[in-house]
Amino acid sequence: MLYRVIDKGELPALVNAFMERYEVVAPVKRGSKYVFASVADAADIQLDYPTTAASPKKYFMPARETLFEFDAVANEVTDFAEEVRPRVLFGVHACDINGILNLNRVFEDPRYPDPYYAAHKNATLIVGVSCMPSEFCFCNLMDSEEARPGYDLFLTDIGDKYLVSIGSVVAANILEGACDVRDATDEDRIAFRATTRARQDAFNDSIPDVQEIPMLMDAFHEDGFWDELGGRCLSCNACANVCPTCYCFDIRDTLDPGAATGRRERVWDACTSPQFAMVAGGHNFRPTPAERVRHRMYHKLNGFLSKHDRSLCVGCGRCAIACKVDISPIEVLKFFDRKGA
Ligand code: SF4
Ligand code: SF4
Repeated sequence: MLYRVIDKGELPALVNAFMERYEVVAPVKRGSKYVFASVADAADIQLDYPTTAASPKKYFMPARETLFEFDAVANEVTDFAEEVRPRVLFGVHACDINGILNLNRVFEDPRYPDPYYAAHKNATLIVGVSCMPSEFCFCNLMDSEEARPGYDLFLTDIGDKYLVSIGSVVAANILEGACDVRDATDEDRIAFRATTRARQDAFNDSIPDVQEIPMLMDAFHEDGFWDELGGRCLSCNACANVCPTCYCFDIRDTLDPGAATGRRERVWDACTSPQFAMVAGGHNFRPTPAERVRHRMYHKLNGFLSKHDRSLCVGCGRCAIACKVDISPIEVLKFFDRKGA
């Protein structure tokens, strides 16, 4: 990995250089919240944001995407290749970069490579940025507080400068062309260490660091705790919609007026939805909210890990903010902590 330093005042020049060739999507303020949105002016970018309301996953996996079009009269199917615009996701936190890496594990599985996902991913550069945790963040407990691979550039705030970790040649060339790039000095390295230590110390220590979570998910599978969570769940899917790593989808055929032509689409779905596990004959193999909430938590904290050797949840805290009835992995960690008290 190569490391360089730029002054913070050079950030607009870097953004403008990206804008010459890419759509730049970055965190911007909307009311009291932050969202990822396309920006036309570097001044609109709010890099010092706590977290965005929704994750950047829609730029890899749109909420609704056409897979192909069909003509039932001519009996023809037309491959649908959406024109994917080259894009830079600018200002992505480490947890979200790790969330994208988890999506890659699913959609880039060589047994079932997904060309739609690949088209978005291959057209996207990622510029990460360091952050300070909010009260809902627990990425440190999910091994996602650092982005190791997964970015083209990563900017760590070291006062009036950024230490820039360089992850790709294409981004390095744009950086070199736009900014006065310097080697890091000892002073920069000390500032970097102070930043990372301050960040480490800022995590909410009321969120318990629980060991052996996958084993506990199995051990407490039948506990009444899940009924208690299920009794509160509104089946609204807000948790899945904001989550950087919920990737389930439904397939739907949409007919044009006249019903001769149409398109096959995939749309986001969620295991918290009552009809998610409905199968032919009307049988539902997860009919209660308790079973659905438990399943979601199980996949986040155990199921994915057993296959990919890392937790699907990256501890971004968004579901804890979005859920109106306080259901999130944080509640599960607190439950396990109470059990050990
Ligand atoms: S489950 Fe919640 S905390 Fe974990 S990655 Fe998804 S939104 Fe973030
Ligand atoms: S856990 Fe919360 S956000 Fe998720 S479906 Fe239930 S009520 Fe909605």
